[in-house]
Amino acid sequence: MITAWIFVFGACIGSFLNVVIYRLPRGESVVHPRSHCRCGVPIAWYDNIPILSWFILRGRCRHCKEAFSFRYPLVELGTALVFVGLWHSQPFLPSLAFMAFACGMIAAAVIDWDTMEIPDRFSIGGMLLGLLLSAFIPEIHGIVADQTFAIGSLLSLTQSLQGALLGSGLMLWIAVIAEKVLGKEAMGFGDVKLMGAIGAFCGWQGAVFALFGGAFIGLALLLPYLLINKSKDASRPTLAGLRMPFGPALVLGSLLYLIFFQPYVDAYFEPFQNLFN
Ligand SMILES: [Zn+2]
Repeated sequence: MITAWIFVFGACIGSFLNVVIYRLPRGESVVHPRSHCRCGVPIAWYDNIPILSWFILRGRCRHCKEAFSFRYPLVELGTALVFVGLWHSQPFLPSLAFMAFACGMIAAAVIDWDTMEIPDRFSIGGMLLGLLLSAFIPEIHGIVADQTFAIGSLLSLTQSLQGALLGSGLMLWIAVIAEKVLGKEAMGFGDVKLMGAIGAFCGWQGAVFALFGGAFIGLALLLPYLLINKSKDASRPTLAGLRMPFGPALVLGSLLYLIFFQPYVDAYFEPFQNLFN
């Protein structure tokens, strides 16, 4: 029953993320005016039910029949599933913190997909939020209260900072090396800042997994799509001749880590943990 409510809650948040994803890069306010179709008619509440309305209206405006992108229900469904996944894979307070993280990351990923740019408010803002929440909720980094809160808080903040620095540092050097090898810019500075946010929430193990796991999974999923849809926009950075943003792969990796792979990845990295302590 709670799972169902978390799903509905996630879908509603996803609906709001669609507004953010559409309006933020255009410099529009995310709260005003109300959602409306390009024909100017505001979307009534009963036509704005997450996931369902798109299918009921078969992806079209009720008034002018203008097509709405399939991405709207997809972002709503994706957010709902991520929320449910986090709820079941993480303890109570961390799961709420990771839901906030997921919101920022989903918005950043789709905006990166659209514009090849990640707004600083998600990357730098996400990193600052990660550090702050880590200090207040030590459980985010698996630190449970068998010590005083102040010590747990400091340990957690240290883990968060380690993750942010190692994640963004690793990304920076990969970008530098890729640029040397390929002879052109392969990854943007936005990805470096985004890895700061991922590391601050997921720790260094999560950051490493997001980088390599995300790149692997992302490439495996995107390769067929990219081979069919080679972009003609020459301004986009390329990876082996294919034009693609890297942010969505990093975000996918970080969410998969939190929802599925954390126990295995952390166990694998256990021997390395001593190096940092
Ligand atoms: Zn319309």
